[in-house]
Amino acid sequence: MKPLWAPWRMEFIKGKKPAGCIFCDKPKENRDKENFILRKNRLSFVMMNIYPYNHAHLLISPYQHVNGVDLLPIETLTDMMESVQASVFALRQAFNPEGFNLGINMGKAAGAGIEDHVHIHIVPRWTGDINFMPLISEVKVMPEHLERTYDKLLSIFKK
Ligand SMILES: [Zn+2]
Repeated sequence: MKPLWAPWRMEFIKGKKPAGCIFCDKPKENRDKENFILRKNRLSFVMMNIYPYNHAHLLISPYQHVNGVDLLPIETLTDMMESVQASVFALRQAFNPEGFNLGINMGKAAGAGIEDHVHIHIVPRWTGDINFMPLISEVKVMPEHLERTYDKLLSIFKK
């Protein structure tokens, strides 16, 4: 995997983490648009990463708060893979990526940003993909850009 240069992630890495667990709290808030939640399955949900490694970086999380796939029932893992499939389908339709990185970072040593609640990363890839991420001067992801990406993906998820 070619490493991605994602300086806007410093805001997340150095910033104050919200109290509680975003993967437990956000789906219960019923503010899916504000929380960039694209789809709620029975046992898992799809959310955009607002500190993305790349354009349209999605996260699949179970509702169950556990720190490893070894602690999840098969039923939940199956539901998560359904969410992965729907996400890859939507990303292909919306942005026609040339590849995808799918992965789970379990534990701090493995690079997990939120290590207490397991989640799957879906990172779409393009040749020379840094060009797809519009940046402002302070190297932050533009919120309008995240919103446009959300709306485009949501219209496909709804079909
Ligand atoms: Zn949680």
